[in-house]
Amino acid sequence: VRNKRRAASEIGVRADLVRLPPSATLDETLREVGRLNERPDCDAILVQSPLPDGLGRAAERRVFDAIDPGKDADGFHPINVGRLVQNRPAIVACTPAGVMELLDRSGIPVAGRRAVVIGRSDIVGKPLALLFLHRDATVTICHSRTPELPSVAATADILAAAIGRPGFVDRRFVKPGAVVIDVGINRVTDPAVAATLFAPDSARWASFERSGAALVGDVHPEVEQVAGALTPVPGGVGPLTIAMLLRNTVRCAQRRAGLAD
Ligand code: NAD
Repeated sequence: VRNKRRAASEIGVRADLVRLPPSATLDETLREVGRLNERPDCDAILVQSPLPDGLGRAAERRVFDAIDPGKDADGFHPINVGRLVQNRPAIVACTPAGVMELLDRSGIPVAGRRAVVIGRSDIVGKPLALLFLHRDATVTICHSRTPELPSVAATADILAAAIGRPGFVDRRFVKPGAVVIDVGINRVTDPAVAATLFAPDSARWASFERSGAALVGDVHPEVEQVAGALTPVPGGVGPLTIAMLLRNTVRCAQRRAGLAD
């Protein structure tokens, strides 16, 4: 949240943080969202998830559904998801939008290429697959029940991993020269796991030994040797996600002012 607020202030967006106590009930949370929906000086709303454990997953869905779709900075509201499915102007989930921005700004074409997305979550895998589809890629979505995952992944010209397992995608998953997008952000504290990821003489191992933890993606560092391009973790998709959140915020404001679709 601190990062998002700092980034917002850098582009002149005022970000107010509404902090509810961990004991807040579903009704109190919905009332707060309702107040923000009504506030004319509020253009965009983001509910930081996960919500407190006590509320449960069904409550989280109700809170997200309660956000005015026109103020939905995250692009998670079913109206915005439906518009994305139909390839109509929509507020698009930030991480998948960031992946497309990253490809575009790196001059990597998508049309006509084979894209494989590993992960089918509502916030990353599914919307990313739709964005690839709308850009004329041939898309395969893989998940925890996909048989022969490494060989399916290795058909990709563009491979995106959004799984949540450190270093899961190794060189077997990657066609030489493929573009690999690592969406995963995993905090590793177990030295045995870190030892499977970092060479003993590497800077990353030294840093892990110093701090006792490392942030790693879903893609194993060895993939760097076969991929044509690979996004780093940290510092790849993550910062683009924050940038897209701000773009969505500005877009919500423009739409409310009648200046954008
Ligand atoms: P999620 O847990 O909701 O979904 C994970 C997906 O991975 C599921 O669809 C599941 O089917 C698939 N999966 C799990 N185990 C698998 C296996 N063994 N083989 C194949 N598929 C498997 O997670 P999410 O919210 O989509 O996040 C995924 C990762 O991306 C996490 O590491 C998360 O921290 C990270 N993330 C990063 C950003 C960012 O800004 N870079 C944003 C959102 C999420």
